[in-house]
Amino acid sequence: MPAAGLSGRIARRIRAEGPLSVAAFMAMALHDPQDGYYRRRHPIGADGDFVTAPEISQIFGELIGLWCADLWRRMGAPDPVLAVELGPGRGTLMADFLRAAATVPDFRRALRLYLVEASPVLRAAQAERLGEAVFADDLDGVPDGPLLLVANEFLDALPVRQFVRGAAGWAERLVAVDERDRLVFVDGAENALAASWIPAALRGSPPGTVVETCSAAAALAGGIAARLMRHPGAALLIDYGHAAPTPGATLAAIRRHRHTDLLAAPGHADLSAHVDFAAIRAAAEREGAECYGPVPQGEFLARLGAGARLAALCAKAPPERRESLALGLRRLIDPREMGTLFKALALVSPGLPAPAGFGDQVTEPR
Ligand code: SAH
Repeated sequence: MPAAGLSGRIARRIRAEGPLSVAAFMAMALHDPQDGYYRRRHPIGADGDFVTAPEISQIFGELIGLWCADLWRRMGAPDPVLAVELGPGRGTLMADFLRAAATVPDFRRALRLYLVEASPVLRAAQAERLGEAVFADDLDGVPDGPLLLVANEFLDALPVRQFVRGAAGWAERLVAVDERDRLVFVDGAENALAASWIPAALRGSPPGTVVETCSAAAALAGGIAARLMRHPGAALLIDYGHAAPTPGATLAAIRRHRHTDLLAAPGHADLSAHVDFAAIRAAAEREGAECYGPVPQGEFLARLGAGARLAALCAKAPPERRESLALGLRRLIDPREMGTLFKALALVSPGLPAPAGFGDQVTEPR
């Protein structure tokens, strides 16, 4: 007998239809309408499963708000302008963003806030903090127009496929069931179609190499870029991942801040994988958008003036708060913590000046 709950339903589906791709498994584990991880759990924070940058330091969302205000001016200050966040979590980034945006009153007045969020639990939390927000299930549900889009730790939650290099070619790694109805990984047959998914730079990898691909992330980047071709705007995508195609299985299950078995308890652990920024860049450039980065998160925040912002906050804070403010920012910037693994990539409408934080031509936002 298959187990009860989501495990059991996945096992029954595999018995009926055959093994699932890792991406199909991941989509069910995260988004099953009854028992998916994001349907039921409140994942983020010390009492959840993982902690994200905006939960660590208010400076993160504030600097992103000012980064957008700076770009908005260079876009010609369109009013209204859509401010879109993908996967806003507890709404913390956007709350900090809006507070910083309020220092540029005409920018703040022009903002029309759209949140793309799958989780009903998190939507409720976001609605409470961001009363003006309009919700959408995906980017297609957001109207077209001048755009400032932000996504932090969203792309890593999109389903990835895994491919394995065999003796003679590439095979897809699949999720099957064993004789006791437990979920197990198996490798499919080597075939030319599987090989066609592998980035050219990795196709010649030695036997045993695993490669992950995320067509949902590439499709999303293409969709954002297409919007940026119709209206002026920019998107800031921040996540953990690689700047260049890199082999290796990175899909991981996290529960209560610890790694756990990928297949043991679908729906009870967060699943995420390293983002392939090269693939995202390529998909956006194919549509004609200009791309900046990815640059390491630490460098990006430092260039935006994180140090000065910390000093200003500390000057106003009671002494006992100062250390935690400094520690929070250090976690985001230190290369041994989130400073290097996490990266920022900007997609920008052609013809706009280079956005702040990505290089030498930078104009610092004020
Ligand atoms: N950006 C937040 C939360 C990151 S967790 C932060 O930095 O704290 C990932 C977020 O994306 C959650 O809000 C989750 O519910 C949402 N999410 C994941 N997959 C999604 C999908 N396919 N469509 C819409 N939202 C999704």
